[in-house]
Amino acid sequence: MASGGFYSDEQEANFRAANVLHRRGGPLEVVCGARTRTGGACQGKPLAGSRRCIKHCGPHAARAVRNRQLDDMRRGKITPAEFAAHEARRAMNRLRDNWKSNPWLACQAK
Ligand SMILES: [Zn+2]
Repeated sequence: MASGGFYSDEQEANFRAANVLHRRGGPLEVVCGARTRTGGACQGKPLAGSRRCIKHCGPHAARAVRNRQLDDMRRGKITPAEFAAHEARRAMNRLRDNWKSNPWLACQAK
């Protein structure tokens, strides 16, 4: 009898064979595909319910990701420390983005 939630060994073998094609780096992997500055296609993983990655999905989806992380923290899926790390990363990215337009901008916490 198969383990790991599979009904049979044959089902597990079929799953593993298909997984090789669809997983990261596989020929059927789903990628963002947005055009990058170097002219290539973005290889980022699309968000759930979107065809673009977090970099190329726009502000609405980015806000949705933050709200999802907030909900995950409230439900105990992630710890407050992990959420704080995500928030710190967002603040760092926001500051870096602001510094691109004005390098003399003072560091300000939002
Ligand atoms: Zn992308």
